[in-house]
Amino acid sequence: MKKMLIAGNWKMNCNSFEATVLVEYIWGGLLEKILKSEILVCPPFTSLETVVKVLEKAPVHVGAQNCHYEPKGAFTGEISIQMLSHIGVEYVIIGHSERRSIFGEDDELINNKLKAIINADLKPILCIGETLNERNEGKTFDILKFQLEKCLESVTESDIYKITIAYEPVWAIGTGISATREQIVEAHDWLRTYLISKYGSVANDVIILYGGSLNAKNAESVLSVKNVNGGLIGGASLNPEEFLIIINVAENILSNS
Ligand code: PEP
Repeated sequence: MKKMLIAGNWKMNCNSFEATVLVEYIWGGLLEKILKSEILVCPPFTSLETVVKVLEKAPVHVGAQNCHYEPKGAFTGEISIQMLSHIGVEYVIIGHSERRSIFGEDDELINNKLKAIINADLKPILCIGETLNERNEGKTFDILKFQLEKCLESVTESDIYKITIAYEPVWAIGTGISATREQIVEAHDWLRTYLISKYGSVANDVIILYGGSLNAKNAESVLSVKNVNGGLIGGASLNPEEFLIIINVAENILSNS
């Protein structure tokens, strides 16, 4: 059966007061629903503990947007996975294109984070995706292959299902220009085939999200794609009504599958 994860990446938005208002609204919209999909919100570090507490009894999971791979030490300004785990965080987004392009994170660093997250029994959401130039030069699948090979280095068949992959074409993030359904079908089919060729049939269980200007209007078209198991949603996840619409779309797709 198709699995679905609807994840909100809040980026650098919402202090702990605003975060509380936002998640209480989302939770309110989910009351008395038996959800088939998994819902996740990823607030900034300073709101995480508050959001975990507010959502303690809610069917909504909490993730961080980054981490350091060492458990502790002289890394000024960094947050360890153990610190996140201690306050009840379950997921960590890694390799987001904003971290790659603005903060210079490379695939080797992302691989170190990924292995440390798995070792700490948290769930990594690994973001990969091509830039517009790379797509226009016909290099999309070379880039995806390169990023997967590096970021998943030394990950075995027994761990691959613990990793969520988010295909996020860089040109679609925050631009209002989503990839077309055809582009998404092509990329997600390619990703599934690649993962199965490398890890075997266990890779059928890997959650593959689409991210890039996903919103209430295009959710049905994107989320109904066979190898799309949900979305990583930036801008639209800050609007609780829109986020709830996307969740409803996912629920309807699962109910009819
Ligand atoms: C993201 O930040 O991962 C993202 C996909 O953003 P947006 O939905 O705003 O394009």
